[in-house]
Amino acid sequence: MAKIVLTRNPFIKNALKSRYPQLAVFIVMLVGYIFAILAGLIGTPVGSHNFSIVFVWIAWWAILILVAVPFFGRGWCAVCPIPLPGEWLQRGAILAPPDKKPKWLNLRVPKMFRNIWLQNISFLLLALFSSVLLTTPNITGIVLAAMLFAAIGLSTVFERRAFCRYLCPVGGFIGLYSQTAPIELRIKDKQVCVTCEGKPCYNGSSAGYGCPWDVFPGGLTKNTYCGLCMECIRTCPHDNIAVNLRPFSADLAKPSTRMDEAFKAFIMLGSAMIYAGVLLGPWGTLKDAAYNVGSSAWFVYAIIFLAIIFVILPGFFTLGILNTKNVLPLKQRFASLSTALIPLGLMFWVAFSLSFVLTNASYILAALSDPLGLGWNLFGTATTAWQPMLTTVLAPAQTLVLVGALIWSARTAQKAANEVKVSSIPVIVYSLIVTSIMLWLLL
Ligand code: SF4
Ligand code: SF4
Ligand code: SF4
Repeated sequence: MAKIVLTRNPFIKNALKSRYPQLAVFIVMLVGYIFAILAGLIGTPVGSHNFSIVFVWIAWWAILILVAVPFFGRGWCAVCPIPLPGEWLQRGAILAPPDKKPKWLNLRVPKMFRNIWLQNISFLLLALFSSVLLTTPNITGIVLAAMLFAAIGLSTVFERRAFCRYLCPVGGFIGLYSQTAPIELRIKDKQVCVTCEGKPCYNGSSAGYGCPWDVFPGGLTKNTYCGLCMECIRTCPHDNIAVNLRPFSADLAKPSTRMDEAFKAFIMLGSAMIYAGVLLGPWGTLKDAAYNVGSSAWFVYAIIFLAIIFVILPGFFTLGILNTKNVLPLKQRFASLSTALIPLGLMFWVAFSLSFVLTNASYILAALSDPLGLGWNLFGTATTAWQPMLTTVLAPAQTLVLVGALIWSARTAQKAANEVKVSSIPVIVYSLIVTSIMLWLLL
């Protein structure tokens, strides 16, 4: 399928170029986010009746993992409220660049942190404490507030969006999976960038800000670190930026060679499998261990969690590709071939989330009418009884998703294996084994 240039349509282009539609969405999101923090802190402690738990971990999560990431990549980042207050403070403006910039430190993030290891760690921290986070409103409120304040703090010390680029626990996996999305922002003509003076898309101009994600749009080849903020559409004086519709997983044709990104794929794959076991499986002891944070059982659970992600899954993967005779270093083959786990991990999360979300979706209507659990009935839906939805189609849908995941992963493995000139069979067998385990955990 050839690319379709969406920004050729003047309505789409003007809507993306103007700051006002984006600002309107930002304000709604920011109000919702602050309300989620307040609901978490002052609302009912019963998680299933508190806006912060129900809207963040059920409604937002469902939209993010089932729709936003698979179809729009970093589309969520384009409207996410978390970096806004910090960014507005850093810029000294809410809309176009002001005449006089505020004097913040504007430091460059040290080189050793310019990767996604911190995002890997922050995600793992949330994952290890997720059983408490997903059920305790005030913990959710505190975590949401902490993310907002961390983003503000980093904006006053470092240039651009340091929080989004290097620390956000959500941004790391959105970036990884955004490579599979059928949407991209790219330049139209490389030659125009070569001769472009001042590179305002990166350095900023009176028309807009330099790329907040510290990306040079002229060199973009993957979605991973482009936050779709649309700033470069505003600043490019040569109209050389386009938003395109493209085939799914186009970015995966050129595998990454970075270990931080490879481990992100293992972290996400392993977490989906562990969550499926803990939250949906029949093992009471496992559930108790995950929920009793700080107990000795929890420490054992945490060690096993980390061992699965950092030793068992990558260990078997390495054993599988060891025999692949090749002059390339093992590290490079490991990183490149792990690209096959990106579509697999995304689909594992889709399959897991279908269960989780359909089981709990009925809480959304009740929380909408009584978001703080104070006995309100704003829309007459406060007494909606809990009941799992679409139970008869759940298992076939999950099976279909996992079969699709395996085919997608196998095709990606073949492309990655061609790039590094090895056989794709070990990776396909590995994907088959982990998919079978996931199927067993879910059904
Ligand atoms: S990286 Fe995180 S904080 Fe930044 S826009 Fe994306 S989700 Fe929001
Ligand atoms: S401003 Fe436009 S033409 Fe210039 S380097 Fe950036 S994308 Fe290329
Ligand atoms: S300025 Fe352009 S390249 Fe940079 S994050 Fe925004 S949309 Fe992506």
